[in-house]
Amino acid sequence: MTWGNENQRPDLDGGSEDLKLIPAWSVVLSLIVFAGIQALSFWPHPNQPQMHHGNPVMHVIGSYSWGAALASYVLLIGYISRDVKRRNMSPGIWMLIVLVMPGGIGAVVYFLLRQPMMSRCPSCRTEVASGFHFCPQCQFQMKPVCGQCFRGVHITDVFCVQCGHDLTKDEMPARLRSYSD
Ligand SMILES: [Zn+2]
Ligand SMILES: [Zn+2]
Repeated sequence: MTWGNENQRPDLDGGSEDLKLIPAWSVVLSLIVFAGIQALSFWPHPNQPQMHHGNPVMHVIGSYSWGAALASYVLLIGYISRDVKRRNMSPGIWMLIVLVMPGGIGAVVYFLLRQPMMSRCPSCRTEVASGFHFCPQCQFQMKPVCGQCFRGVHITDVFCVQCGHDLTKDEMPARLRSYSD
């Protein structure tokens, strides 16, 4: 069962988990884009001599920052192409918006409007937004919570970090209930 691993890590979305969402093709593509920008910028262009006058240091900084900006945009597009799927959003429409809107505006719009991540209730298979503590259909406990304030706790906590409640006193320790099935 895959949901067990999901629950074992802390209830915050880990950054390393997010990094795994960047597909290999976009990493490769971003390296190519970065290298390509450097090559274009430093290659002697007989037709474009205006590329090479001015301060050479500024030229280096300029081409590096352009390369880095475009390369990270490619990584971002790769990330969104996977992130969009785990949120039950339409990949076609969102990839189009992100690619067509200039200067990363599409990506900003995406991060403002994206839906919460969806996961399935292990008990009844209902689709549940990942922030929920309980399944709205069958009350299955999706995350360990404090029995007093019902805010999320870590599976290893003995006391609630929000209200100080002794988690071992919960009739059946709430933080462990999701593992008893
Ligand atoms: Zn359920
Ligand atoms: Zn509490």
